[in-house]
Amino acid sequence: MKTAIQPVFTVHLNHIRNNYKMLCAKAAPARTAAVVKDNAYGLGAEHIVRTLYPTCRTFFVAYAWEGAQIRPFAPDADIYVLQGIGSDDLKTVKENHLIPVLSSLEDVAWWHNQGISDIKPALQIDTGLNRLGVRPTELNQLTPEQRQNISLFMSHLACPDTPDHPMNAYQRNIFEECRQLFPHVPLSLSASGGTLLGSEYTYDLVRIGALLYGITRPTPDDLGLKSALTVQARVLQTVPLNAGENISYGATFTAAHPMKIAIVSIGYGDGLFVSLSNKGRFWVDGKSLPILGRVCMDSTICDITKAPDLRPGDLIDVLNDTYTPDDMARDAGTSAYEILSRFGKGIRFIRKEEK
Ligand SMILES: *Cc1c(COP(=O)(O)O)cnc(C)c1O
Repeated sequence: MKTAIQPVFTVHLNHIRNNYKMLCAKAAPARTAAVVKDNAYGLGAEHIVRTLYPTCRTFFVAYAWEGAQIRPFAPDADIYVLQGIGSDDLKTVKENHLIPVLSSLEDVAWWHNQGISDIKPALQIDTGLNRLGVRPTELNQLTPEQRQNISLFMSHLACPDTPDHPMNAYQRNIFEECRQLFPHVPLSLSASGGTLLGSEYTYDLVRIGALLYGITRPTPDDLGLKSALTVQARVLQTVPLNAGENISYGATFTAAHPMKIAIVSIGYGDGLFVSLSNKGRFWVDGKSLPILGRVCMDSTICDITKAPDLRPGDLIDVLNDTYTPDDMARDAGTSAYEILSRFGKGIRFIRKEEK
């Protein structure tokens, strides 16, 4: 009889701790902040903040409520709120001493009218991403008081994963020009990708998410970072299949010859991408088990012809040390960020690995 049915998600806090150490060394003398938005890329903001604090004293979240959630585990840390804050967030911001990232002249003026003198906001400028940020041509509209009264001057790169991309130097030059207006204010330009571009890009503070969780993307990983998430799922049933039989909704796979398949207990309800249908693979003992047919809500079918001894209740690997979110992202046609974020929303049972 099977001992358990549900998938096993393991967050390797020890990997995150080691990754953080290596990233600090790489970015030094710049300080390394941990980006824990979206529940720390799905992995559990509370556990990750507990793991990194007090070594890490600067965190970035997207929303004020996320900052309030992690404040108890990082009592003295600077917690920046990337999306900025609305008037509904003021109470949360004051009670938890959260630092808003202001990204428009309107937001700056509004913040200064609130008279919250013990919190110095960050100012984000847009240097070419055209997402959030005050435009460089608008900076002269800030009053001297607004200009002095900030704790971080920041921007965000568009193409740091492509080291030769002209956008990198282009954005850095604009950042250099604009920073002149903000003497003595700490500077931050880079997230994960920018940090790997080298010391010209690290300034005073780097804001690291992806690399911390072991997402290394196209950049060769010479730091030895390790993936923070492994996922395993249980075989529910194994079935011999005759040539000509179809698999799953839509009958998108037809067996060309007799084969053996396993019905595995993980699906898009757990965060597995439907785009892995007929494209992805699971793993057992280093053997890849191709996903066959369409991924369902709670189950997925794979070819176990090469691993015929698998039995109901056995665990197979969905993500492991050698098939990482980066690898799965290539098969699924998305980014490793989205792989983690999606699994994060599917995680209902989590195992924390401290060793
Ligand atoms: C998400 C985000 C980061 C972290 O990016 P990674 O590529 O995951 O390191 C840093 N800064 C800003 C403004 C972000 O939105």
